[in-house]
Amino acid sequence: MISKHNRRTFLIGLALLGSSVALRGAAKTIAGRSRPAALDRVAATTRALTIVPDRWKIIVGHHSGTAVGNAAIFDRYHRSHGMEHGLAYHFVIGNGSRSGDGEIEIGGRWLKQFAGGHVHDEAVNQVGIGICCVGNFEETQPTPGQLRSFIALVEYLKADVVKTPVRFAVHREINPGRTVCPGRNFPIAAMHARFG
Ligand SMILES: [Zn+2]
Repeated sequence: MISKHNRRTFLIGLALLGSSVALRGAAKTIAGRSRPAALDRVAATTRALTIVPDRWKIIVGHHSGTAVGNAAIFDRYHRSHGMEHGLAYHFVIGNGSRSGDGEIEIGGRWLKQFAGGHVHDEAVNQVGIGICCVGNFEETQPTPGQLRSFIALVEYLKADVVKTPVRFAVHREINPGRTVCPGRNFPIAAMHARFG
């Protein structure tokens, strides 16, 4: 989520509390996953790209902050808000509203290996792969399909694409106090347990 950050600072503490509460449920959801078919197209497309060694150093998780959406909708929104390269994220994972549940859409910035525009820190944007799950996880839960695809995508990027060590973070860890993204119901602790 790249808007409405400033007004929600007061929710940070609540969100951090909520993430630990959400962890128990998330662990069950994440266990027993298998590599989703949603990753096949990402892998096939990415194989054809030239990824510069050391290009990417961090993977950043987001929610959209909206109940519905997809890559095209967010692309239009970001262009209308002055982002000349459009969609700020490299990947968008659908929730079944305007794209498939767990579907991984590939953004133009990934295809062109452009920097992202997804955090309030230009140095991080330059080296940060942005993954956005559609939804407002302050209010709803990510779907099991979204979590499966998110995990599979991060694992794939870490193991098969970025050949150098890559850090994992969520948006509010990059910009504490400016955003609650990806929301208190996103299982941040479980993701850190998995990805470091
Ligand atoms: Zn965000």
